[in-house]
Amino acid sequence: MPEGDTVWQAARRLHDALAGQVLTRSDFRVPKYATVDLTGRTVLGTTPRGKHLLTRFEGGLTLHTHLRMEGAWKVYGSAERWKGGPAHQIRAILGTVDRTAVGYRLQVLEFLRTGEEERAVGHLGPDLLGPDWNPDRALANLLADPARPLGEALLDQRNLAGIGNIYKSELCFLIGATPWLPVGALPADRAAILPGLARRLLEANRDRPVRRTTGLRDHDLFVYGRAPRPCLRCQTPILVADQGDGSRERPTYWCPACQTGPAPGPGSRRVRETRPRPSN
Ligand SMILES: [Zn+2]
Repeated sequence: MPEGDTVWQAARRLHDALAGQVLTRSDFRVPKYATVDLTGRTVLGTTPRGKHLLTRFEGGLTLHTHLRMEGAWKVYGSAERWKGGPAHQIRAILGTVDRTAVGYRLQVLEFLRTGEEERAVGHLGPDLLGPDWNPDRALANLLADPARPLGEALLDQRNLAGIGNIYKSELCFLIGATPWLPVGALPADRAAILPGLARRLLEANRDRPVRRTTGLRDHDLFVYGRAPRPCLRCQTPILVADQGDGSRERPTYWCPACQTGPAPGPGSRRVRETRPRPSN
């Protein structure tokens, strides 16, 4: 699952390449929209909402895409070779005279009336990188279900929009709680700083090619992808286990010494985890 900062960067790439330009080519390689032709239309722009991308065209039409785990939007110059993946993975092409945006492996691709975008994104909580950011509401949302494990509450885009699996693990480390701690058990002073901390992390990484949470020279992340290497603060081996609702389990990393709270039993932990998992 991409993080909000990845989606923000994708939105900016699309916006910079296409906004204000007339399409000379459009191609949607999903059965439902295979006959849609947008050539001759002007692209108004692309805006991120949480992890969703909304590309608006003149005439009140919006293309809604979501990168999910594998998707990507790439932009190429007219003479450039496309290298985002094999051709059969292309789902969308939006071309102008000198730029072509290519959407690879997009799991969500649908057209909406621009006036009805809320149907696609209206369920989202306050957007960590959006103009509607509201830390008090995000905190209230996070704490609304006190029994819910912290890691699950952070990933739920209805609470606050933009946190993916990497920031989930990193945020739990930074506030010293395991991802399995019920949010209601989080001390009030630590809960209170959580939304602001999440926003600072995403904002700081919005323009960076490599995601960093540490401020350390030699290490970008504290726990994500680091099992079973030693914790950067206390040298205890980092652990990894799956966390999810049964349908979607995600690798979740933590330091059993720096972070307090419950943790899954050894039987459910992954073993011999040595390489970082793909992040986007
Ligand atoms: Zn530690």
